[in-house]
Amino acid sequence: MEEFKMSEKKTPPKPLPVKDRFKRVPIKMRSPEERIHDFDLYIHGYTDEEARAEAARCLACNVCVKGCPARLDIGAYVRAIADGEPKNALQIILKDLPLPTICGYVCTHNCEDLCVLGRRGDPIAIRHLKRYAAEAVEDYSEVVEATPEPDTGKKVAIIGAGPAGLTLAYRLALKGVKPVIFDALPYPGGTMYVGIPPYRLPRKVIEKEVEFIKSFGVEFRFNTRVGEDIPFEKLMEEYDAVFIGVGNHRPRRVECKGSDCSGVYHALEFLRGVALGEIKEVGRRVAVIGGGFTAMDAARVSLRLGAEKVMVLYRRRAQDRPGYPSSNAEEELREAEEEGIEFIWTVTPFEYTSKDGHISGIKYWKNRMIEVPGKRAKPEPIKDQEYFVEVDTVIEATGQKIDFDFIPEEIREKLEMSWSEIKVNEFGETSIPGVFAGGDATNEKKDIISAVADGNRAAVGILRYLFPERAEEFHIKE
Ligand SMILES: Cc1cc2nc3c(=O)[nH]c(=O)nc-3n(C[C@H](O)[C@H](O)[C@H](O)COP(=O)(O)OP(=O)(O)OC[C@H]3O[C@@H](n4cnc5c(N)ncnc54)[C@H](O)[C@@H]3O)c2cc1C
Ligand code: SF4
Repeated sequence: MEEFKMSEKKTPPKPLPVKDRFKRVPIKMRSPEERIHDFDLYIHGYTDEEARAEAARCLACNVCVKGCPARLDIGAYVRAIADGEPKNALQIILKDLPLPTICGYVCTHNCEDLCVLGRRGDPIAIRHLKRYAAEAVEDYSEVVEATPEPDTGKKVAIIGAGPAGLTLAYRLALKGVKPVIFDALPYPGGTMYVGIPPYRLPRKVIEKEVEFIKSFGVEFRFNTRVGEDIPFEKLMEEYDAVFIGVGNHRPRRVECKGSDCSGVYHALEFLRGVALGEIKEVGRRVAVIGGGFTAMDAARVSLRLGAEKVMVLYRRRAQDRPGYPSSNAEEELREAEEEGIEFIWTVTPFEYTSKDGHISGIKYWKNRMIEVPGKRAKPEPIKDQEYFVEVDTVIEATGQKIDFDFIPEEIREKLEMSWSEIKVNEFGETSIPGVFAGGDATNEKKDIISAVADGNRAAVGILRYLFPERAEEFHIKE
């Protein structure tokens, strides 16, 4: 059970000599003028020389690890890169994360916000270095240390092929437990495939990592919506445990008069339509309503589909956006602004106008912000003056919630909730014995690395549940 051992306290190695410890080696990017015309990747990876120079700045103190939900041994893998050993680095990463390239491209990298070097200068570019290590190896099986244990005869049904389900499947397969993943979509990856656009996360990266996970004997049943194509109760009967990793896919809509006209989408439906090739164009003047990463992607995708003007309308201020303060949220905003997206802060849309049944504009109020101690400031519309902006497409990126319809009422009643998330214990088990859950359906962070951490946690929980006599072997990394 090497991969589930608690991390040992180690003395950090001596810092390497460097020219400037506080200055990051810049990452090369395509110019905004060039990149807005296509869906190709715009962040280039580090070269060998750049990666070694950047990694050499690291003190290997591991202060940043507390910012990583999956508790990767960051100091150790960054030092391996500095030593010119990217394969060793990848080996270390794979102990806690079976999706290293995906996270190397789009992780929210909250670890970087804790990097001690950030107190006086630039934090280590941990995410870019992870990408470098992962891309140094074509076939991960060359470096992965773990070998699958003999078949135990146990099987687990996993609902959802997103990062939570994929991570759990990998962990269980290594322990000789057969994972079967059910997904309503025709492809694996969940929101990583149908939400995150390919200019940030190329499809071939997802395919490579899914193939790696599949090679351990993970079975996939695509185009299979649990609750429609197969009943949830059947999974409970036929499998030794069930994992709910369904994400959050039910849109929260803007409560706006006139929203039944054409040209109004929810961002999830829009991004998914574009990802699956069902939506190929957008209007000339697009308004995106929202402020999180879904809003940023919907806006930037609209530009790439040829919109002339893209505006983001958000009810709070820039500093109140979801995920703020963090370097990830700042990067997102900066890159969207560089691409020419206009931000209209502190507004409340209250009516969509239409012409011949198609959206023609948005009426909105401006908001005053009310400071609330210990919480985000609250927007309050000033209703004595109305504003108007002309648009021909509206994309609502105002959040989403878990869709429970696949669970029959009598079972759902027994499922304890914590606000809008499924409540789980420290091992990812729900209030129903043998039913586990993780990812966006349970955590508040709602990002990939938190879903990975949930997959790791549920693996420990499921192994303890299936093999109580071996419980001492399975631990969660602190
Ligand atoms: C536009 C957008 C951009 C994002 N960008 C980032 C980013 O840059 N970095 C980051 O870390 N995170 C990002 N996220 C968040 C990240 O994608 C999610 O946190 C993560 O994918 C959640 O993983 P999950 O495994 O819980 O669920 P998901 O990835 O949502 O996967 C759930 C899967 O379950 C399937 N499913 C649902 N119901 C059923 C059913 N009844 N039967 C069968 N299958 C079902 C779905 O089809 C889906 O494939 C972004 C999200 C969005 C929407
Ligand atoms: S990345 Fe920063 S915090 Fe993390 S080990 Fe290196 S120097 Fe320390």
